Parts: sequence; C-alpha cells; structure tokens
Amino acid sequence: MLKKVLVANRGEIALRIVRACRDLGIKAVVAYSEADQDSLAVRVADEAVCIGPATPSRSYLNPASLISAAVITGCDAVHPGYGFLAENAYFSEIVAECGLKFVGPHANAIRMMGDKASGRATMQAAGVPIVPGSDGNLINTEHTIEMARKIGYPVMLKPSGGGGGRGMRVAFNESELVKGYQTARAEAEAAFGRGDLLMEKYLPRIRHVEIQVLGDNYGNLIHLGERDCSAQRRHQKIVEESPSPGITAEIREKMGRDATRGVSAINYNNAGTLEFLVDPDGNYYFIEMNTRVQVEHPVTELVSGVDIVKWQLLIAGGEPLSIRQEDVKLQGHAIECRINAEDPERDFLPVAGKIDFYLPPGGPGVRVDSHMYTGYVPPRSYDSLLGKIITWGQDRDEAVARMQRALQETIVAGLKTTIPFQIAMFNDPVFRSGDISTRYVAEMMERWKAAA
Ligand code: ADP
Repeated sequence: MLKKVLVANRGEIALRIVRACRDLGIKAVVAYSEADQDSLAVRVADEAVCIGPATPSRSYLNPASLISAAVITGCDAVHPGYGFLAENAYFSEIVAECGLKFVGPHANAIRMMGDKASGRATMQAAGVPIVPGSDGNLINTEHTIEMARKIGYPVMLKPSGGGGGRGMRVAFNESELVKGYQTARAEAEAAFGRGDLLMEKYLPRIRHVEIQVLGDNYGNLIHLGERDCSAQRRHQKIVEESPSPGITAEIREKMGRDATRGVSAINYNNAGTLEFLVDPDGNYYFIEMNTRVQVEHPVTELVSGVDIVKWQLLIAGGEPLSIRQEDVKLQGHAIECRINAEDPERDFLPVAGKIDFYLPPGGPGVRVDSHMYTGYVPPRSYDSLLGKIITWGQDRDEAVARMQRALQETIVAGLKTTIPFQIAMFNDPVFRSGDISTRYVAEMMERWKAAA
C-alpha cells in the first residue's frame, strides 16, 4: 500500500486525487505552480510544494521539478492526473527509475497508445474494429492523395500525437486535402511537437462511446461499461452520460468484450479508456485509447459504484483487483456537465475574472467535483475547466431532472460559464430524446442563438 503520493496536477483533478488519498489513509502532497498557490487542492493537501512558474513547461510539464518535489517530501508515488505528463512514457520511466511508483500503466502501454497510428494497429491486431484509414502515418502529399482515393472522401486528417480535439481536419475532395495536409502538419508540429498525421474515413453522423477499463499487475482486467460523450463542441466533450442512450445491450456487451480483449493484448495495468465511434447502424470503430483517468470518470463511478481513482492508487501500490467482471453491476443513469469559464454566446470563448460568489448545488443524486470557491481567480495560464456537476437517477429522465435542478441552483457570479447553454440543452426535446450525434451541440447552438 502506498503511503504518500505526489499529485502532479492542478484544478479539479488534483482535488479529486487528494480526496481518493484521504479515503485510503494515504498522505497527499500537491505540486503547484506559482499561479496555483491559492488553489483548493493546495489548501486541502497534507503538504504542498511549489514547482515553478505558471508556464507549464517550467512546472507541470517539468519532470525534474516534479520528481524533486516527490523526493524531498518523501513520497513513494506520483499521480499524474490527466493532461500535462499523464501520457508521457518518458516521465513514467524516470519516475520508476527514481524508485517511485507511477500511478498509471507501464510505459510501453503509454507509448503504444500515445501514438494514434500505433494504437490503431495494436487494437486491429487484437481483433478490435477500427475506423477505415491509413496504415501508420502519412508519408508525403502523394501518399496522402493515394490513401484518400483508397479510403474514399470525405476523410479526416488527425495528428497522431494529438489530443483535446485539436488539429483535426476534414477534406471532401483532393484540393481540400492537399491544402489541409500542409496546414495540419504545421499545426500538429506547433501544438504537439511532431507533425505526424494519420488519415481516417470521416464518419458524418456518429456517437462517441467509450469503454472504461481497469486492470492490475496480475492480469486481472475488467470493464465498467460505457460513457456516451457525443455532446461536444469543437471535438471537445461538454456533457457525458452512462449508459449510452444510443446503443443496445447487445452492442454494449460486444464493445466491452472487445475492449477487454484489446487491453489484455497489451497487459494493461491501471485505469484506461478505449474510445469508439458508433454509426447509426450500431457498427463501432476504435479511434484511440487514453492511458489515464479521464475528466468524465465520475459518470462511471456513479453507475458502477467503483471508485476509479482509489483503484488507480491501490493497483499502483501492488494490490490485486478484487472486482471480477461478474461483480460489476451497472445501476441507474448518470450525467456529467463540465462547467467551463467560457462564454457560450461568443462561441465558447474562454473568459477570465474573479469568482465573486460561488454556490454549488446539492440534494439527492448530485455530486460536485470542483476547485471553485468564492473569491477564487482561475489562472489564465490553464484550461477553462472549473469543475463538473454529476447527477444520478434511477433512469435517464430522473438524472436529467436532477441535472436541471442542480444547474438552476448553481451560482458562479463574476464569470461567464457554460451553464446557461447547458440549461437550454437539458430543456431541449432533441437532447431529451437521447437521439443525438457529435454534431448535436453545433446544431443546438444555432437554434439557441436564433431563439436569443
Ligand atoms: P483527440 O485525441 O484530439 O480528442 P479523437 O481521435 O479522440 O481526438 O477524436 C475527438 C473527436 O473527433 C471524436 O469524439 C469525434 O467526435 C471526432 N472524430 C474523430 N475521428 C473521427 C472520424 N473518423 N470521423 C468523424 N468524427 C471523428
């Protein structure tokens, strides 16, 4: 069992990890940048260590600062959260070389899945269906044109080392493709430090459905059902739910089995998520795997009763997974709303300012994972996530009703947030029907703006 963990992250996930440590009687040390000295995670941690200036490359992305912080405070493990160094194989290796446990899977799993092209190849070899696309990365313009002819337009170009929905491009014909290829390469190079691109068939009306898996160091592997993350703006998730209203029990079973087989092929040994696209006929295709805890993990925690972050820590500490697949009982329905400091009326433009007053929601079936408090000034240097509201109900209608109540109760004064748009979304008959695709938010935005 671990004794003391360095939390190498910030915001709501740092707080979430501190809470899991508390529940296990593990001491938590929060590593924070100068911009985060007033953060809630720093306030509630057992100890906190400043690791450098606001600029991520000099703090949250700096392995030397983080490892020094872990060593001087006597930690025996590092939890990377999500983003920053969470999917950096090199970081996980040096953590291990310094005699610390990395709270995540082995470095090879991170490496294989960190590159979308090698992730596709690995899952395909394990018999998991993938989106039709290029074998490996695109070599040059000629290769790109040839691939698109083979796959058939429209096609999507994706940075192989990308994330966060950035840098993807759709081409409907050859001239768009040639232009798109050059710009996408340059963008990928600037954003992710490498210009590698892969190509996939662009699927126009799809749902995003992902499977949560959990594995230990002894070959035990289970899945905890799915999350539907079709509500996205600019390929970024905004509302997630479980179960997915768009798949049948039969598809759920098959996806779960495929996901478990896929990760057992790489001896996966922590929490992870396999993302799939599902078409209207119920065909599903693997797109990528995230080898870390995800923002939307609470949705699964509420329907499965399994504390995913706690299990991440237990597994890293060498405990065997005591939950078998047949023990997993998914109950009721859970929905998560990501609350972002963004102005929905201005195309979700990130906004800055001080939170003059904060009142979180409460009552039956409501969970709040947030680092907000009255007087808090979210630093401008990081993403706009302020927290998450998650509701649970016996069925989808009850979870939705509770979310409406929770959003109406929430007060975040002084700063624009995504809440007004989310309130409209939960009142929208289309969303309430459950029949949505990844284009839903863009379409809803148009109707919402027109109504305003
Ligand atoms: P990232 O790692 O940047 O988040 P993903 O590969 O996970 O990128 O894709 C993010 C989102 O982009 C998906 O949830 C989906 O909405 C959309 N997307 C990805 N691949 C395709 C595709 N082949 N066709 C249509 N939409 C796609």
